[in-house]
Order: sequence, then structure tokens, then C-alpha cells
Amino acid sequence: MWLYLYYQKIEFVLAKDLTVPYNSSITNLSFIENIKNGKILTKEEKIDTTKLGTKKITLTFQNQYGRKENQTFAITVVDITPPEIKFQENLTTIEGNEIDLLKDVTAFDDVDQEVKVLVEGTYDFQKVGTYSLSYVAKDQSGNETKKEFTLTVEQKKVPQSNTNTNQPDTTFTTSKGFQGTTKNGVTYIDGVLIANKTYSLPSNYGNGLTQDTMNAFNEMKNGAKTAGLNIEIISGFRSYNKQNTIYNNYVARDGKTAADRYSARPGHSEHQTGMAVDINSLYTSFENTAEGKWLSANSYQYGFILRYPKDGENITGYMYEPWHFRYVGKDLATKLYNNGSWITLEEYFGITSQYE
Ligand SMILES: [Zn+2]
Repeated sequence: MWLYLYYQKIEFVLAKDLTVPYNSSITNLSFIENIKNGKILTKEEKIDTTKLGTKKITLTFQNQYGRKENQTFAITVVDITPPEIKFQENLTTIEGNEIDLLKDVTAFDDVDQEVKVLVEGTYDFQKVGTYSLSYVAKDQSGNETKKEFTLTVEQKKVPQSNTNTNQPDTTFTTSKGFQGTTKNGVTYIDGVLIANKTYSLPSNYGNGLTQDTMNAFNEMKNGAKTAGLNIEIISGFRSYNKQNTIYNNYVARDGKTAADRYSARPGHSEHQTGMAVDINSLYTSFENTAEGKWLSANSYQYGFILRYPKDGENITGYMYEPWHFRYVGKDLATKLYNNGSWITLEEYFGITSQYE
């Protein structure tokens, strides 16, 4: 009888699912749901789940009469988390100007660390249009992440002058004594086209980056290249209609007050002038990159100004944008550069930037 009891079987129930996610916090005892006629002697310990694959776990049980017994079972560590893709907002380029679609895209996976990203879909840098594409990243366990983005290829044309607005021409003098003219709804001060919150453009104005802007940008791109840097236009000309869509999306997302701090209402965007470009990034951290620093220190030599400087929001009407540059020509850009402490067009000309 005693022997019979000594050999009494220990019954235990294991949890059904013996697969565990990578990097999960789990112990060797968490699979034991129930024990009868005995107890567990093995101490509770964390299982190392930082490596994929199957591992054996041996537990020691003891029945109430002192007999010990080992039981071994296998658990499998699996990767169930797809990679995470980080990417820029939607991309824009000008017809014929190829850009690297993967430039600011990164994908990280909990197991594989860096994962390769592929572009899915068809597009043509030579053809104007909006292409719906996806970034796809797959880890070695086959978990896949897909993120949609659009590539807009814009038309490359020299702007034509507008004649179909009926507003009379007006002239005025700014508070700093500069001569301003508004012709067909387009305002020039001392010959410089102005688009801000006070001065707008007609809805039909503009249809591409101006040739001067393109030439100056290419010259600046070469200068950057000599310094070992790469600069790309990620947003150039934006039509009134496109700005209307963008602005309304921001208003829907963040509300009008917030949207007005970083996005222009249609007709008020400097991108509609065909003389403004967003370069490389739309994150404030761009100021700390080699390209951001180089542009801030050198753009004036190519005729570009950093249009919305730091702490200039109450003057320009917009938050700091270290990526947004406006072509004004070398002479004016050099004056506004002011040894790195940018003077805004508003301060220089003595004009406002406020919605009515
Ligand atoms: Zn911009």
C-alpha cells in the first residue's frame, strides 16, 4: 500500500498554447494550470524569450509521499509583431526630377532590427500625376507592414501672367518706405512678389516653379553636393486648389487656429508663387542635420532665404520652418541673411502678415 502511494502519479494540466511571443515576460511555471496529488519543486524563473525557436523546460514535481518526478515540455518563442515603418508625409516632385522614395523611410523590427523597405506600385517621374503607392516591410518571420503614401509629380512650366482678374491696379508705400503694387491681384513690393497672410494670390496664379528658382536651386544643390550633402525638393509649387485641399485636411484634423500656425489658407501659400521650396524634411529636427545647418548658413549665396525663422511667428504668421526656403535673388537674400540672424520679408519691407 505504501509503495502504491509512493508511486502515485502526479497529474498536472498544461496550458494549451505553448507558443509565446518574442520578448514577452513569461515564467517556467506559467504553463502549469493545475496539479493533483503533488506539488512543484522547481522554482519560478523567467524564460528567456529574446531568441526565437523552441526550448525545452524541465520541471520537478513531488507527490505527497515524497517521490520526485521530472517532466519536460517544449515552448516555442515566435515573432508576431510586424515591422514599424516611419516615413515622411506624401512626396512631391517636379516632372523629370527623380527623387529617392526611400530617402526618409526607415523600418524597425523587434527581432530583425533594421528591415528593408520596398516600394509597391507603379509611378513615372516623367509623367504628371498623383500615384498611390505603398511602403512594404517584411520581417524574417513573414510579418508584413504596409503603409500607403502618394507621390505627386507636378507640371514643370514657366508661370504665365494672369489677366483674367478685374481688380484695378493699386500702389502703396510700406511703413519702411518701399513701393508696393498690386496688379491683377498679385502684390509686388520693390519688385518682390509677396504671398503671406495679408497679401494673397488669385486662384489661377502660377503653374510651376519659376525657371529662376529652379536654376538657383540646382546651383544650390551642386553647392551642397560639394560639401558632401544631398538636398532635394520635397514640395515645390502648389496650386490654389491643392493648397485648398491640404489646408482643409489640416483644419479637419487640428482645427482652424492650429492649422493657421503651420499651413496657409488657399491663395496665401508661398508655394503658389513658384518660388518657395520645402527641402528634405518637414520636421523641426531638420535644423540639427548637416543639410539643415548648411542651408541655414549658405542658402543666401544662391538667392534663397529661410523664410520662417525661429521665434518669428508673430512677424511671419507661421511657426519656425527650417526646411522652407524662398527664392528672392542673391542681393536681397544677402541682406536678409544678416550674418545668420535672418530678417523676414515682413520686417525688411515693413509689412504685416495677418488674415483680415
Ligand atoms: Zn513650405
